[in-house]
Amino acid sequence: MAAGPNSLLLWEEAKKYIPGGVNSPVRAFRAVGQDPLFIARANGARVYDVDGREYLDYVCSWGPLILGHANPEVVKAIAAAAADGTSYGAPCEKEVKLAGMICQAFPSIDKVRMVNSGTEATMSAIRLARAYTGRSKIVKFEGCYHGHADSFLIKAGSGLLTAGIPISPGVPEDFAQNTLVAEYNHLDSVEELFDQNPFEIAAVIVEPVAGNMGLVLPQPQFLSGLREITQRFGALLIFDEVITGFRVAYGGFQDVIGVRPDLTCLGKIIGGGLPVGAYGGREDIMNLVAPEGPVYQAGTLSGNPLAMAAGIATLERLQDGSIYKKLDELGRVLEEGVRSILADKGAKVGLNRLGSMFSWFFTEEEVRDYPSALTSDTALYARFFASMLSQGITLPPSQFEVCFISAAHTRQDIAFTLDAFVRAIDEAG
Ligand code: PLP
Repeated sequence: MAAGPNSLLLWEEAKKYIPGGVNSPVRAFRAVGQDPLFIARANGARVYDVDGREYLDYVCSWGPLILGHANPEVVKAIAAAAADGTSYGAPCEKEVKLAGMICQAFPSIDKVRMVNSGTEATMSAIRLARAYTGRSKIVKFEGCYHGHADSFLIKAGSGLLTAGIPISPGVPEDFAQNTLVAEYNHLDSVEELFDQNPFEIAAVIVEPVAGNMGLVLPQPQFLSGLREITQRFGALLIFDEVITGFRVAYGGFQDVIGVRPDLTCLGKIIGGGLPVGAYGGREDIMNLVAPEGPVYQAGTLSGNPLAMAAGIATLERLQDGSIYKKLDELGRVLEEGVRSILADKGAKVGLNRLGSMFSWFFTEEEVRDYPSALTSDTALYARFFASMLSQGITLPPSQFEVCFISAAHTRQDIAFTLDAFVRAIDEAG
């Protein structure tokens, strides 16, 4: 069951007016060779397309909707905020409240600045790190995604450990020279970059749990190792917790592993489904941001009351820690079910999971870094995706993304998913 007639009509219209028909590339379903569904409405764990079809949803808007779609408390908070005006261009109480909640949740964050997307958060954090250290270069990891700012659209050069090369036209090569690319979960690659550029690296930015090469967990000493190396060389450590913040635990993955970064980037969940991002960290660093300090960063809609209201309502609900227990339990049931099915079938599929995030990989290799993630058979994933969709389940339309379970998912939903999984791996072959 591919896209229905109403989706296809809208798709033709969309392509007339919007580049590629979408406002964010992966939504075009190209990686799975399909036409996209157009969604009419969503509720709880389900989305409904414009052809009236219902799907159990594991995309969850790419992570923000930890409470599920159209959560009544979040919707109520947004409606109440909208009735008081949508944006003032002046400070409002809700910004202070959400900032306070974030600082309380993350002991590494003394002060936080609200922006409108994860991209703005990471882009601003590295500007700040460069200003603080007086250095120009940054280190990122191949396969990690930090939004679409120029500094991040970079992959490793041909010889490993050379300066990066742009992955998009429009990013000047000179600019790319300032982004060094290391290998996720390979501390020696980071060590080597610092040895080659000891006083030039302003910061290392990392997704503490990689979510943009499919889900790849950090090896036990990887993040503490980054903390040690950055401290040794006087560089800052930036955790991009845009996905993991308030997802794997209320205090993010840094709380789980007890490593304190200098700066943290947030987004997704803190906006409860509305456009938002934030960056925060040590007071002495954050005080460099204008108007307190000289590092310029601003935003017409930053801290707008609707996004703040949605974020506050979401975090208030999450403060009840039982939600994380429930999410982990659902994830565990899914993982155990998948493993027992695979033990019977002997299919070459692996599952990486952390709490309510998971990815299937179609490879016999254990996926623990970017090269092993790339061994996944993407054609097989595309067939698997198509089969799951035809059975009424939406997965990310790309192998290299993460599935999200929300608090609106149920045990029955997981059982339904496992039944579909059995058929999908048979059909995908
Ligand atoms: N950082 C990470 C880890 C992300 O996954 C994303 C987006 O998915 C971003 C940053 C960019 O966020 P946004 O899409 O809100 O700009």
